[in-house]
Amino acid sequence: MQGTLPTATWQDELRDSITTLEQLERCVNLTDDEREGIQEIEGVFNWGISPYYASLMDPDDPDCPIRRQVVPRIQELQDELGVWDPLKEEDHSPVENLIHVYPDRVAFCVSSVCATFCRFCLRKRMVDTQGCAIGEENLAEGIDYLRRNRQIRDVLLTGGDPLLMPDEQIEDIVARIHEIPHVELVRIGSRTPCTLPSRVTKELCRRLARHQPFWINTHFNHPKELTPEAVAACGRIVDAGIPMGNQSVLLKGVNDDTAVLKELGERLVAARVRPYYLYQCQTLKGTAHFRVEIERGVQLVRGLRGRTSGFAIPQYVLDTPYGKVPLNYQYIKGREGDDVILESFSGKLWREPNPKEAD
Ligand SMILES: *Cc1c(COP(=O)(O)O)cnc(C)c1O
Ligand code: SF4
Repeated sequence: MQGTLPTATWQDELRDSITTLEQLERCVNLTDDEREGIQEIEGVFNWGISPYYASLMDPDDPDCPIRRQVVPRIQELQDELGVWDPLKEEDHSPVENLIHVYPDRVAFCVSSVCATFCRFCLRKRMVDTQGCAIGEENLAEGIDYLRRNRQIRDVLLTGGDPLLMPDEQIEDIVARIHEIPHVELVRIGSRTPCTLPSRVTKELCRRLARHQPFWINTHFNHPKELTPEAVAACGRIVDAGIPMGNQSVLLKGVNDDTAVLKELGERLVAARVRPYYLYQCQTLKGTAHFRVEIERGVQLVRGLRGRTSGFAIPQYVLDTPYGKVPLNYQYIKGREGDDVILESFSGKLWREPNPKEAD
């Protein structure tokens, strides 16, 4: 009967996630590397794929950029260089799950679960399918730390994925943090617009938009991820009055191509999401097959400059235990006398008289 059909909620969708080899075999024709990967990583790395994100995978092409991001491969166990905690986050945590590297801002990992597990995830050591939010005691301790450290003006809620918590709980955390007088800004990092767009309900957006200023940074890596559903999810966030940024990871075989990065940036901008960072893939255990040489990464991003809208170009960075380091092409070529020689996007050189500052 019309109007009485039950609609599946995002929680139902999450419960139907693909977490076993048998389920995955029903969606894609697995390669030996993938099958062996799934069998061998048991107990080492978690994996899991939302039905929505799985529907974007090409069943016959193992090089599919969606599939590469989420289906385990045996290569994950063949990484000699990678370490478990490349950012030494555990050394920078005055309170469990709260990372304080910069003077004025912190990252607070309030959730350890994700809608889909990325094979290159920095927090592979933390994310799992067990338990969801941090405990009240840990939360209260974190909030107390924020209250006592008056230089903190910007709090980034991350995980895992904070948006997998129930609406009330997320809103409660955001409200309690925003209540601290010196905290000017709260932001959430969430991949749900990309991996579980149904999670981004109008109700959630309405609740979060009550706590301004509030930003959401999401995580798209490939234009194929910008489906009508994902674009609509971003639209609900932006329409509610929440500005959005995007943080990508530079991944070999997924987006290590200037044309792909250009299309990704342009489609994000069309969805009203500003490309923010493009991360160099960390020297993290199990990610050797994803890592791109930094010099090549710099050239890939250089190829965007002058060839698309400036705000469609993310800042390429490497995160280190001492903070993020911009990885930039050097457009200042040198000096000739008092003049500075600059290189334009097309390679044409420009000589700029260098202003002398009076002391
Ligand atoms: C990335 C990060 C932030 C936020 O940095 P922005 O450059 O302001 O986006 C804050 N704390 C930690 C530990 C981070 O890794
Ligand atoms: S969504 Fe983010 S935190 Fe979760 S697995 Fe992917 S990269 Fe890691």
